[in-house]
Amino acid sequence: MSTKPTSGVSSDVNDISIPSTCKAGCVESFGPDFQLVVKQVAVPEPGPDDLLLRLNATGVCYSDLHYMLEDLPMPKMSDFGTRSPGHEGAGVVVKMGSGVKGWKIGDRAGVKPMMEVCLNCERCWDRKETYCSKAVSTGLMVNGTYQQYLVSPARYTSRIPDEVDDFTAGPLMCSGSTMYQCLQEARLKPGNWIVITGAGGGVGHMGVQIARAMGMRVVGIDGGEAKRTLCMQLGCESFVDFADPTTNVVDEVLKTTDGEGAHGVFVTAGSPSAYQSAPKMLRIGGKIICIGLPPAGSTIAGADPAEFVLRNISITGSMVGGMLATQRCLELAQRGLVKPIYEKFSIDQLPEAVNKLRRGQIAGRKRYSRT
Ligand SMILES: [Zn+2]
Ligand SMILES: [Zn+2]
Repeated sequence: MSTKPTSGVSSDVNDISIPSTCKAGCVESFGPDFQLVVKQVAVPEPGPDDLLLRLNATGVCYSDLHYMLEDLPMPKMSDFGTRSPGHEGAGVVVKMGSGVKGWKIGDRAGVKPMMEVCLNCERCWDRKETYCSKAVSTGLMVNGTYQQYLVSPARYTSRIPDEVDDFTAGPLMCSGSTMYQCLQEARLKPGNWIVITGAGGGVGHMGVQIARAMGMRVVGIDGGEAKRTLCMQLGCESFVDFADPTTNVVDEVLKTTDGEGAHGVFVTAGSPSAYQSAPKMLRIGGKIICIGLPPAGSTIAGADPAEFVLRNISITGSMVGGMLATQRCLELAQRGLVKPIYEKFSIDQLPEAVNKLRRGQIAGRKRYSRT
């Protein structure tokens, strides 16, 4: 299923020659017909507290598409003058600002969905730094990891362990850390049942593995036999195929979970039906965690208030993971417990990779671009 990386960073670590320009995936026009092209751009100069990274891999995340489509109820890429999306970068330090301490040339480093946070506010102190009012979203507010050389503030750059290659580390920066964070926030216990809708997708398939590593029992919901095979291989105890017209998804979940329902439903799919059915799959006191982002105005999460009152259920949302969730995720990968599944593309094929993701042509896999 998984494609082994063909080129790690180890052979490149000592090569720190820095060109004046590099390749980058640049958005030519935004909106429903957005155009992404690969161009030469200037290699940025690190400020006093920054690292200059040469990225060897970037994930292509569905959020990148939302940013280029400009279909989310939030500020837009074009408002910030940002040309390159991407927020799942993995690479190596090639240059450092004069004030940087604790890093050295050749260190492996990762770029997350937040490029920078203030580290000096209540949200930052409370491990909710991705909600910091001064957070800078990578590939939205500043140029992101679709660029070969990127500047990253040293204090908020993630360290990648030696045992974790760049193609594994990349998707952990967003998909993996997102699932780690929300599984933690849900405060579920080992042995609890959880449902992941979209379990065979880019975020969901990481969630299955992380939840298993945390000792939870996972029911995967997705469509088709390929997804079933994948989900069961990754550790789901049961799989429900929403695409099978003879299957009643809610009934199947209840049957698997002792007739009581799950302790948590993690909705990584952005479809209205995934959100509609979630409350019905919960046991008393269960939690819905919203993760997948539907286009603005297309979906409502929730149910009749009586459902919440009579069954003590709750609903919350969770954004990407912060520094700690990312590091914990990298540790799981280091121990061989989390392995992203991806397909590799060269940086010249970045527009093709993005289009494939948009058309859903490589169902259920995380797409990767080598930069
Ligand atoms: Zn992402
Ligand atoms: Zn802050």
